[in-house]
Amino acid sequence: MLDLLLGNCRLPGGSAPVDLAIAGGRIVGIGPARGPARETVDVGGHLVTPGLVEAHIHLDKALLGDRVSGSAETAADAIRLTAIAKRGFTAADIEARGRRVLDLAVAAGTTAMRAHVEVDPIVHLAGMEAMLALKREYAPAIDLQLCAFAQEGILQAPGTEALLVRALEMGADLVGGCPYNDTDARRHIEIVFALAREFDVDADFHVDFSDEPEHLHVREIARQTMRTGWQGRVAVGHLTELAALPAEEQGTLIGVLAAAGIGVISLPLTDLYLMGRRDERNVRRGLTPIRRLLAAGVPVALASNNVRNPFTPIGTADLAHLTFVTAVAAHMGTPDLVRQLVAAVTTHAARILNLRDYGCAEGSRADLVVWDCDRLDEIVTALPARRLVVKAGRVTVEHERRVIERWRVGGTDG
Ligand SMILES: [Zn+2]
Repeated sequence: MLDLLLGNCRLPGGSAPVDLAIAGGRIVGIGPARGPARETVDVGGHLVTPGLVEAHIHLDKALLGDRVSGSAETAADAIRLTAIAKRGFTAADIEARGRRVLDLAVAAGTTAMRAHVEVDPIVHLAGMEAMLALKREYAPAIDLQLCAFAQEGILQAPGTEALLVRALEMGADLVGGCPYNDTDARRHIEIVFALAREFDVDADFHVDFSDEPEHLHVREIARQTMRTGWQGRVAVGHLTELAALPAEEQGTLIGVLAAAGIGVISLPLTDLYLMGRRDERNVRRGLTPIRRLLAAGVPVALASNNVRNPFTPIGTADLAHLTFVTAVAAHMGTPDLVRQLVAAVTTHAARILNLRDYGCAEGSRADLVVWDCDRLDEIVTALPARRLVVKAGRVTVEHERRVIERWRVGGTDG
């Protein structure tokens, strides 16, 4: 007995629609229908992709629009304004705001997510408590990876290292650093790698978040990745400074990232919003060079980062929106580049998060999205609605859409 039979699915790259047989949370057959099944859905030839993967988001400081006065002009501003708001955070408050964002993400088809959870002398472990509760509550709909994250620095915020250890003992899945916001970036990076080794977890850094190549801490991250043998287990977010290097230096550094197996996470809404603020003419876009990274074989994810706070005043937690914005912001409009944008919120993101058995092949975990379109490129170009979301072989979200074009029905009666 199958758990679910999704009939008439158009898979990415496939021409004729196929049926997906699902049991035990996995795809067990692709081809003509094989029943019986507990639930059968004919998806009518619509596109089916693996679930969307959110590689970098801050649920704990999302939705602060109503409690932060003043708007951020720079990243430092955003950190300062958010730190003030953070003094009022409680576990219950973090949980309530996190839940609202998770509901948006799940409805949009996100089935896996890496959330950075701030751990520092301001908020202590309240974020971890809230996020561990959400991880359990949302387990039927989404896999939540929790990254214990030192947003306020480690050396300049005494007590943070011990709190990171405590967060990892509580169940954080990985550890995250922010070397640009500390007094000794090299030592900060060393501490994060030492924790990654001690707990045998991946590491994820916020790095090189500026218009000019004034930090380039990613070089030290790459060195320590190689030294510790952590290739394939390190991700970096922002990396906007890479775009400011002359082409040749940029190429050399991209080669170093590729050799170290480091994944890059572009955060387009935050980066477009906060970069280029000192430019009076020809305001730069401030995105990491996505096309060059992809061409060198570096996996690149697009992620939401912040949703409606001083870092990013807007946000829907819908990853398709990021592909739409990035197509124009990063000049990615050819058929191949548009497919890469979809990969940036699916397969590349899954690779960076080290998700196992991700995809639409036989044996893959049955985390799927049924889109209201036929072709993969339409995800980017037309932002189609989601029709169904499937997590671990069960339908988790069903969208109904109803449009009544009353103007067509004629009549001029008032
Ligand atoms: Zn972030």
